[in-house]
Amino acid sequence: VKSEARGQVRVYESKADQVIRDRWVLQADLGHALRNGELSLHFQPQAEINGRIFGFEALMRWTHPTRGAVSPDEFIPLAEESNLILDMSAWVLKEACRTAAGWTHPLTVAVNLSPIQFQHGELPQLIQQTLIDTGLPPSRLELEITEGILLGDFAHIVGLLRRIKAMGVRIAMDDFGTGYSSLSYLQAFPFDKIKIDKSFIQAIGRTEQATTIIRAVIGLCRGLGIPVIAEGVETEEQRSFLAQEHCPEIQGYIIGRPAPIQVYSKIVDKLAPV
Ligand code: C2E
Ligand code: CA
Ligand code: CA
Ligand code: CA
Repeated sequence: VKSEARGQVRVYESKADQVIRDRWVLQADLGHALRNGELSLHFQPQAEINGRIFGFEALMRWTHPTRGAVSPDEFIPLAEESNLILDMSAWVLKEACRTAAGWTHPLTVAVNLSPIQFQHGELPQLIQQTLIDTGLPPSRLELEITEGILLGDFAHIVGLLRRIKAMGVRIAMDDFGTGYSSLSYLQAFPFDKIKIDKSFIQAIGRTEQATTIIRAVIGLCRGLGIPVIAEGVETEEQRSFLAQEHCPEIQGYIIGRPAPIQVYSKIVDKLAPV
């Protein structure tokens, strides 16, 4: 019995060790991902409630040489821990702006920012330089931030956001409603768009609370004059509820999945209604 117990302890420890080792190996691999061309972008359409697509969100993808696709929810935290996120984010921004600048139709592109980008380096300069290098008009770029970004040196971060906004780039608050102080941030910075988190959308028809919260957020944004988009819209039930509540914009599988931009070439290049 004693040796069995010992054996179990040993197995347990080695599993924990392995988790740590795997994470460490993955982080080391991530260090080569950009150089090795393993990173790519998928684009997911954003649409008016009537289905008319006006832009795309750029989402980072990592295809590991042996593991295949690794989820951003797994590799973004690793990249942020190691500051690799800085080079990766600069690449995403450049690639997204370069792609959008090549579209026949002047649709918008939304890019996610990491809190780390606000702590290191000169973010407004990076954005300015990227717009110059790619020729994308600032009005076609939207940057998505989560309220985690505002947990840092608040005055410093709001200062950076104001400089970015002054260039004519829009700033959206992502995952709205999931943090602790979403409402107070609306007062501290003039966001150009609010994205209602998909957890609320996916609870439509399931919980009374979700529909009440969504209704309240749409009303709040209307009162404040801030455009609002619902993310993670998958079903017709969700879409029709949002239409009934006069939610102006939606994003989600019901409109289109994140995919290489070639999948959407007809929308960006040929058949888009002008
Ligand atoms: P996010 O910014 O909230 O992105 C939305 C996520 O919801 C994406 O997951 C998207 O694929 C997924 N999604 C979109 N529509 C639907 C839907 O109808 N149903 C469901 N169930 N999911 C939907 P993804 O691509 O796995 O990205 C996860 C998170 O990783 C993102 O959440 C974002 O926080 C982060 N991320 C992705 N790309 C980047 C990037 O380039 N930079 C930074 N800093 N973070 C990124
Ligand atoms: Ca986002
Ligand atoms: Ca989101
Ligand atoms: Ca999210």
